Amino acid sequence: MDFNCLTPSIVFQEVPGEISLCFSITGCKVGCKGCHSTDLWNEKHGNPLTNASFTRWIDKYQGLISCVLFFGGEWQSDVLIEKLQIAKENRLKTCLYSGEKYVDMAISDHLDFLKTGRWVAELGGLDSPSTNQIFMDLKSGKKLNNQFIPPNVNESLNTTYLTHSTNSIYQKQGAENVAA
Ligand code: SF4
Repeated sequence: MDFNCLTPSIVFQEVPGEISLCFSITGCKVGCKGCHSTDLWNEKHGNPLTNASFTRWIDKYQGLISCVLFFGGEWQSDVLIEKLQIAKENRLKTCLYSGEKYVDMAISDHLDFLKTGRWVAELGGLDSPSTNQIFMDLKSGKKLNNQFIPPNVNESLNTTYLTHSTNSIYQKQGAENVAA
């Protein structure tokens, strides 16, 4: 099975405080209703992301980026981990957006940031106070969802929802596979 990805892009908002080179890995099997990225479902889409091509992308943007972000790819943990290790060797931070509730610790050990949770339209994404999704800074153990919420919404909210942070999202081994 190839580890295919769409053409990488630079993103500024997906990881707070970081300029990220984003790799969208195809082959997502989560199947969220209302998925905004159905082009990621077919594992044949995109081009193989080998260690060599990944290194070339990093070299191209070295000095301009501070982080490497993966949308999915956890279903091939060994291959993904190789890429995360290369990013670390290049002194870059690492982030994974997964549609699963849990991610294998073998992966999270190589991550600085982790977003978990499938897309549920009624609950909204990270910019929604009612979202089921969680964005964690794994180094500090802090939940960073509040950094995705527009200031006017943030100010008007009772901050109770921010106390629902959990470290368990990266402590469960071998959980459900999959995506962004
Ligand atoms: S995890 Fe992301 S890409 Fe996969 S089905 Fe859900 S929204 Fe779509």
